[in-house]
Amino acid sequence: MTNQRATGADGTEGTDPGPARGGAGEPAGEGARESAWAELVATARRTVADGLVVGTSGNVSVRVGDTVLVTPSGVPYDRLTPADATGVDLDGRQVLGTLVPTSELPMHLAVYRADPGARAVVHTHAVHATAVSLLVPELPPVHYMTAALGGPVRVAPYAAYGTDELARGMLDALAGRTGCLLRNHGTLTYGTSLDQAYDRTAQLEWMCRLWLTAASVPGHSPSLLTPAQLAEAAERLRGYGRRS
Ligand SMILES: [Zn+2]
Repeated sequence: MTNQRATGADGTEGTDPGPARGGAGEPAGEGARESAWAELVATARRTVADGLVVGTSGNVSVRVGDTVLVTPSGVPYDRLTPADATGVDLDGRQVLGTLVPTSELPMHLAVYRADPGARAVVHTHAVHATAVSLLVPELPPVHYMTAALGGPVRVAPYAAYGTDELARGMLDALAGRTGCLLRNHGTLTYGTSLDQAYDRTAQLEWMCRLWLTAASVPGHSPSLLTPAQLAEAAERLRGYGRRS
């Protein structure tokens, strides 16, 4: 995990004084939650449209104050409405909605508890990334976008979906990173916004596809970036968003 802070970077926390439905200690207003839910549903639909998941596999969450909005279990994303907003507190107690939260809740909550700067988590079963998780303990650094995820992306050990054991292995794999692979399962990335978390998943899937493509050419092995080249890329990426 990184220690970067994102104090209000996505503008969704603590800005709306409206009534909270989440109970005592809930600082985020209803308006902030409604817009975050709409953005969450749009992101979940994007994972299907872009081929990163099939059907209702995978899940998305976004943190608004002390509430974590999550995709519910087993409901196709194109059927989700504003009335289906589903939320839990950081201990996993349901504070919003009646649908059952995703079974992968332990992974989502583990990210938010470990990094206070985390505002969104995206979990998919993207095919190239999942394929890589079957082959190596770490995605080789084939491209400078490796630096955007904090360095070479690790593979968390296999554990049954929805378990605390899987969440623990994921946290270990995330040390110093904003994304990891889950062996025989899929991907998990997080960020300071849904867009950033989603983009990291898309970049991760693309890099896995790149490595698989290059590594499949007989008689050749892909050239990899050195730690110094990755460090240089990380430095350039840090300045990227600040240039006008
Ligand atoms: Zn999954």
